Amino acid sequence: MAMTDPVVEEGPELDPTDPYAREAQTFPRLRREMAQRVAAYGREERMPKDTMVFQRGDRSVDFFLVLEGSIEIFETDVRGEPFVVTVHGARQFTGELDLFNERQILVSARTGDDSRVVRIGRADFRRMMSSESDIGEIIMRALILRRVGLIRHAQGAVLIGPAHGADTLRLQRFLTRNAYPHRLLDTDANPDAGGLLACCQIAAAQLPVVIAPGDRVLRNPANGILADALGLTETLDPAAVFDVAVVGAGPAGLAAAVYAASEGLRIIVLEAIAPGGQAGTSSKIENYLGFPTGISGQALAGRATVQAQKFGARLAIARAVAKLDCDTTPYRLYLDDGRPVQARAVVVATGARYRRLAVENYGRFEGQGIHYAATAMEAKLCTDEEVVVVGGGNSAGQAAVFLARTARHVHVLVRASGLADTMSDYLVRRIESSRRITLHARTEVTGLEGDNFLRQVTWKNRETGMSETRPIGNVFVMIGAEPNTEWLDGCLALDDKGFVRTGQDASGRALASPFATTTPGVFAVGDVRSGSIKRVASGVGEGSVVVQAIHEFLNPGVA
Ligand SMILES: Cc1cc2nc3c(=O)[nH]c(=O)nc-3n(C[C@H](O)[C@H](O)[C@H](O)COP(=O)(O)OP(=O)(O)OC[C@H]3O[C@@H](n4cnc5c(N)ncnc54)[C@H](O)[C@@H]3O)c2cc1C
Repeated sequence: MAMTDPVVEEGPELDPTDPYAREAQTFPRLRREMAQRVAAYGREERMPKDTMVFQRGDRSVDFFLVLEGSIEIFETDVRGEPFVVTVHGARQFTGELDLFNERQILVSARTGDDSRVVRIGRADFRRMMSSESDIGEIIMRALILRRVGLIRHAQGAVLIGPAHGADTLRLQRFLTRNAYPHRLLDTDANPDAGGLLACCQIAAAQLPVVIAPGDRVLRNPANGILADALGLTETLDPAAVFDVAVVGAGPAGLAAAVYAASEGLRIIVLEAIAPGGQAGTSSKIENYLGFPTGISGQALAGRATVQAQKFGARLAIARAVAKLDCDTTPYRLYLDDGRPVQARAVVVATGARYRRLAVENYGRFEGQGIHYAATAMEAKLCTDEEVVVVGGGNSAGQAAVFLARTARHVHVLVRASGLADTMSDYLVRRIESSRRITLHARTEVTGLEGDNFLRQVTWKNRETGMSETRPIGNVFVMIGAEPNTEWLDGCLALDDKGFVRTGQDASGRALASPFATTTPGVFAVGDVRSGSIKRVASGVGEGSVVVQAIHEFLNPGVA
């Protein structure tokens, strides 16, 4: 559609190179020529003053560009009173990252004057974002900055509970990793949570609770229930048939989603918790190509998620797949609430979980002193310090020998009576001959203490009952990893540790793709794959490469 040039003042235009133009980048005013190009993707509408454009809680809201007049974005405060967050004038536009998904939106909008706007539906919005790349870049940056602003300032949810409590931490991690605005009221520091406990009739024993927008109180909800209450997850149509379902949104699954969606496949990602997987729990990944100063796993996952959704990938979070029915065509994946999702091809990207120690405070120090890898990066963290390595296998032995080069002392803790049965001879000899390594047999960790970081470790000899506590801030837990493959239940060949075998059929003949499993159309990538290198980069590589094999499976001979 043609847009008549509105008679408006020239506002400040975006200069993306100006580092001080944060406000202008968050609420840019498009150049007239750009606004005209955007308008061609939608239809013009007139809206009298005070027309509701959209409301908090709506899903799949359109994109609006103001031509004349204004759109006010508003929230409601704790007393339920509306307050205006920002006003979009001529050539400014509505929306934030929820334009790319079907989550319930967090703010409302109404016209501030009699207005003329362009409304662009979701499909046309995505078309515009990829076709008009210069404008797409400005809009994408604004949408990301707006989400960051919402996380910092929006009312969102209120989480009430003891800050160090395991369930409070679980809920806080869930909200944080899904970029949902929230505030924690720590009942250790503020036992009546500013009067909220009394006013909502919540007993201390019921903590933690989440007060969702609309004042709905959820008592220690499971992640899935919280996601539903906050409108965080997509509504799924059981009749829809996707080209491909990716199970798991770690680095491997997200890479598969970006490449599959960008190459036109109809794709859904089903994720049990939140995007990012194990990498999402890493405070800084320093060895991923292109990030010389490192990037947090969450930032990497957040970017990848938006990238996948920009290309049209659907993402259902807090939706664990409980079973794959591989006898049907298309394949049926049953979620943990029993609902089916149908897809012609499946990518298994459910990763692995490192075996953990059953010790109090363990989760609190994961990534803050508890490590699952001993690379140069971790070694640097403990230069001239004492460290603990838990485990009696080769990975533990290698870690101990490696760390002994820089650490002041390495304590190797094993529950068995020695290392001979589980570790290679050469490693056992090196450990025994090193003055910097002490082997503690029949010993296990019994206590972990600290503040934001691990500061002190206690271990106990199971035979003598003697305990020892030392000021140690780094523990390397090397007791193996377990694949997340229970849900595959007999559909595919697994190796003796439960990882998915790929690249060979049941009789050992090579398959067309190194990521093909023994079931046609079902592929496996990343840590879940037997023999994989357990790194972010290898997961991303496998996730992107597997898409070629999916094309070949869906359209033989065409790809
Ligand atoms: C603390 C920590 C720090 C690390 N640091 C580094 C580093 O610096 N550099 C590096 O290269 N590597 C690092 N790694 C290793 C790296 O994170 C992993 O190799 C990588 O995340 C594997 O990616 P993935 O996608 O294969 O699997 P994962 O990251 O394990 O993701 C799998 C996803 O599948 C989901 N899932 C599981 N079961 C189901 C189901 N039934 N239904 C739906 N979803 C399911 C999980 O919730 C998860 O989100 C680190 C790992 C940890 C734990």
